[in-house]
Amino acid sequence: MSEVTLKNVCKVYPNGFQAVKDFNLEIQDKEFIIFVGPSGCGKSTTLRMVAGLEEISSGDLMIDGKRMNDVEPKDRDIAMVFQNYALYPHMTVYDNMAFGLKLRKVPKDEIDKKVREAAKILDLEALLERKPAALSGGQRQRVAMGRAIVRNPKVFLMDEPLSNLDAKLRVQMRIEIAKLHARLGATIIYVTHDQTEAMTLGTRIVVMSAGVVQQTDTPENLYNHP
Ligand code: ADP
Ligand code: ADP
Repeated sequence: MSEVTLKNVCKVYPNGFQAVKDFNLEIQDKEFIIFVGPSGCGKSTTLRMVAGLEEISSGDLMIDGKRMNDVEPKDRDIAMVFQNYALYPHMTVYDNMAFGLKLRKVPKDEIDKKVREAAKILDLEALLERKPAALSGGQRQRVAMGRAIVRNPKVFLMDEPLSNLDAKLRVQMRIEIAKLHARLGATIIYVTHDQTEAMTLGTRIVVMSAGVVQQTDTPENLYNHP
């Protein structure tokens, strides 16, 4: 179960700029929430506040009824996938996927089991000994997903995870992500510029503009009945 609630969440950066104003959203368990809106409207800032990578200036973040504002990122049971993949170049695919678990002192045999399970789901089994430089964009993307999956988090945050891929791979990965969502039964918050991604993946779409939520609705209501 993972319900995520943002209540009057605001972000004022140290320079005084208010990037997010009174963000309100109740996300149900297993929802696939999409954030859309022009560049600079506060999508990443909001995602980073949920992850704990950015302090919440005011308001509350709740996960399953527990206030999370002051909980360390590593204790939030959340995994984030970035658009630049953020893989360690000197580590193999296996070690990249194992790293977050090693940090958390998970026993070695358990790490091994989880990495191999994730590799199977993501079709990475043949690539475990490779370094990121020897992978295609889509493969790197899958390793980044794998790093998130092995931790079995309640909530996945994805910030334009497909934006660096070419059109064909993007379509392929979009289908992979939809399958992953169904298979993992996880709650996902996903930032994208791509209307097709928003329409096909989202259970609900949050439209932001200049730090404010303009509209929250299902893809059907948002795009089919203008
Ligand atoms: P988006 O993800 O929608 O493109 P961001 O959340 O990255 O938008 O940024 C929202 C706004 O906050 C932008 O105007 C951006 O320039 C500003 N911003 C982001 N990070 C900082 C920071 N560290 N200090 C001041 N302003 C920032
Ligand atoms: P987890 O998998 O547990 O989320 P990560 O492996 O993503 O942990 O990251 C652990 C720490 O290493 C974080 O502080 C993160 O910002 C940092 N980190 C992640 N990827 C890279 C990278 N490619 N280069 C440098 N630092 C990184």
